[in-house]
Formats: sequence, C-alpha cells, structure tokens
Amino acid sequence: MKEKGSLFLIEEERIKKRIKEMAEEIKKDYEGKNPLFVGILKGAFIFMADLVRALDMDLEIDFLAVSSYGKFTETTGEVEILKDLQIPVKGRHVVIVEDIVDTGLTLKYIKDMIQSRGPLSLKICALLDKKERRRVDIDADYVGFSVPDRFLVGYGLDVAEKYRNLPYIKEIEG
Ligand code: 5GP
Repeated sequence: MKEKGSLFLIEEERIKKRIKEMAEEIKKDYEGKNPLFVGILKGAFIFMADLVRALDMDLEIDFLAVSSYGKFTETTGEVEILKDLQIPVKGRHVVIVEDIVDTGLTLKYIKDMIQSRGPLSLKICALLDKKERRRVDIDADYVGFSVPDRFLVGYGLDVAEKYRNLPYIKEIEG
C-alpha cells in the first residue's frame, strides 16, 4: 500500500500476498465443513475468484447481485436484490464475500437476509474496510486491508462500470 503523490494505491502483488494470508486463515476455520461462499456482485467477482483459487479445500460458491451506488458515488441505504442465491443456505456454513465495507448498510441488509434463512454459521470476508465511514454496527470477520475514506476503483470496484478490470486498486480523483 502506498500513497502515490496524494493518491492511494494497493499494488497487484500486495493484494495477491494478502489474499494468500486470508485464505490460510479461512482454511483453518473451515476445512472439512464444505462452506458456501456467497460473492456479492458485481464488485466482489475478482476477489471471489482469487480467494477461492487460493483455498485448497472443498467449498461451494454462489452469487448474490444487489444494487447499491448505481452511477453515483453516494449510498442511499436502499438495497435491491437483483439476483438471489441458487443454493439454499439453510444448515450451511456461509461466508459472505464482499469487495468493500463502507457505511455497512449493504452488508447489514444482506447479512440479516441470509441469517433469516437459517445458516449453521455466517461470517463476512471483505477485501477492503473503510471503517471511518460506518453508519451501522457491522464488522467483517476477515478483512484484507483497512483503507482511508477515499473513492477507490479497480480489482472489481467501479465508477459507472469502468475500471473493474484493473489488477490493482487505486484512488480516483474526485
Ligand atoms: P455500503 O453499503 O457499505 O456503504 O457500501 C458498500 C458498497 O458500496 C460496496 O459493495 C461498493 O459497491 C460500494 N462502495 C463503497 N465504497 C466504494 C469505493 O470506494 N469505491 C467503489 N467503487 N465502490 C464503493
């Protein structure tokens, strides 16, 4: 992680290394439990792909698509389910995989929704955590990087659908 000029940046190699460490931690907690990883689309798709490939164990994956920011950079607090899960979560060890926790409103909504369906356990794995922006009491159980209150793109994160394909994470000038 470094500040390039005044712009925040997390390099590709740093992300890879951190995901390997997170996978080791998750493997210790879930090996033999066949957990279900629930990726939140679209932002988490690259993180999810790299995380599950770093996990050498039995697991299943599913995706949930929600709308949050749309073309804007401010959250409304309203979450709309655009695509629901296909695999039932009842009785499963579920890990929600999210790109970034900002105000926490999206994650709170998703967590409550999945919890109401009766999983055996439910944890959250987020690549990025913007703690100072939190508006509801929710924390990820596994966090890749704590990040400052800047608008970030790349590695799945977009602004108006651009930059998701960058292999690194950078701050966008506002
Ligand atoms: P929350 O509900 O926690 O405020 O927002 C979570 C969602 O907002 C994330 O899944 C992500 O889609 C979006 N988001 C929050 N912060 C950023 C950011 O810095 N950059 C981008 N591209 N999206 C963000």
